[in-house]
Amino acid sequence: MSQDYDIVICGGGMIGAALATQLAPQGFNIAVIEALEPQAFDLSQNFDLRISALSPQSQRVMQTTTAWDTLQSMRLCPYRRMRVWEVEGFGDLTFDALQVGAEQLGHIAENRLVQLSLWHALSSFNNVTLLCPAAPVSFNTVASGTQIELDTGATISARLVVGADGAQSKVRQAFGIGVNRGQYQQACLVAAVTTELGQQDITWQRFVNTGPQAFLPMLGQHGSVVWYHQADQVRALSQLSNLQLGEEIMRQFPHQLGHVDVSEHAFFPLQKQHAKRYVGEGVALIGDAAHVINPLAGQGVNLGFQDVACLAKVLNDAHEQGDNWSSAKVLIAYEKQRKRANSLMLHTMDAFHHGFSHTHPAAKWLRNLTLAAAKVPALKKQVIRYAMGL
Ligand SMILES: Cc1cc2nc3c(=O)[nH]c(=O)nc-3n(C[C@H](O)[C@H](O)[C@H](O)COP(=O)(O)OP(=O)(O)OC[C@H]3O[C@@H](n4cnc5c(N)ncnc54)[C@H](O)[C@@H]3O)c2cc1C
Repeated sequence: MSQDYDIVICGGGMIGAALATQLAPQGFNIAVIEALEPQAFDLSQNFDLRISALSPQSQRVMQTTTAWDTLQSMRLCPYRRMRVWEVEGFGDLTFDALQVGAEQLGHIAENRLVQLSLWHALSSFNNVTLLCPAAPVSFNTVASGTQIELDTGATISARLVVGADGAQSKVRQAFGIGVNRGQYQQACLVAAVTTELGQQDITWQRFVNTGPQAFLPMLGQHGSVVWYHQADQVRALSQLSNLQLGEEIMRQFPHQLGHVDVSEHAFFPLQKQHAKRYVGEGVALIGDAAHVINPLAGQGVNLGFQDVACLAKVLNDAHEQGDNWSSAKVLIAYEKQRKRANSLMLHTMDAFHHGFSHTHPAAKWLRNLTLAAAKVPALKKQVIRYAMGL
């Protein structure tokens, strides 16, 4: 027996779950397949290592349901300012939300809590089925769409399959969608930290010869340190104990953190990847399944939320008008809009990465000049608005 759905979303992470919240009110019969069950939230838990800076645009998507209020009732840290500077140079720039009449530039959230708050919002819809833990084993084209065999032994079918299953997307592979990819020489180390001195209203990024060093605030005096370096250096840092790494951070990072205690750390390779197509007959890709971007400016999940808003609008509009909403002809409107925008951001981050990891004096002079030029008030406001998605 096969259970039939209108839409099967493969991957119930932040982006897959967000899409389900935007489609459910339209009455689609939806299944979300997720391999890993996120741990339930408890205030006594340590802060997670995987966090994201959510833009006001992503916040707006979550505010269309109860998800944002739920996230706020768990843990969420607003930040008002962002500082970017070059260690040996004259480029030093601070963006402040007040400059565009806003209260904050964004919020730092733990990825798991974003996912849990979206799942909580989904639980109020009886037309959404969460299949977890479950993963697809095979995808077969049938007359009505796609039949999916799951590792639980169940078989389900869908008119539309959405790949929200991250960078290694099985959906993308099953539908034969290729990617362009590249690997950076650098990697980044992420550490969950507690700092002696509070830095809770500011996120900062300092450029040194070896790559950027960044701090993202969390509630209390918690935060996250991100350290970009050559891949072998990052691997060596990741071998240190929490105590040793804390000492190394205090030695190498700006001193405004005071004493630093590390509770957890891990390293991540840096990669870029872009799907050659986002859609086909009965299939669409969103989030990291479609694009993986250098995390330098913390834009990955925000691009995913923009995919969600766009794809939901295309599907909901077509459904309302009685169009064949799962057809490539309808879905292409989503690809046209999002592929170009994501490509621009991927290339901008690429240029940023290369520009800021170069040690040549001319490159250094140019980036200092760029930071100095961005101080011009009108330009600065534009940059803030762009980063906030206004
Ligand atoms: C070090 C680092 C820092 C980052 N910082 C930021 C930041 O500050 N701001 C920002 O916007 N972005 C940031 N990003 C990027 C951000 O983490 C990703 O863009 C985001 O997680 C993508 O969300 P997603 O839901 O598309 O994919 P994922 O988060 O990868 O979620 C995919 C989901 O699908 C599930 N899944 C996968 N395969 C299967 C399968 N076969 N069957 C069933 N389920 C499956 C997974 O379990 C997971 O739940 C960062 C990335 C890195 C590496």
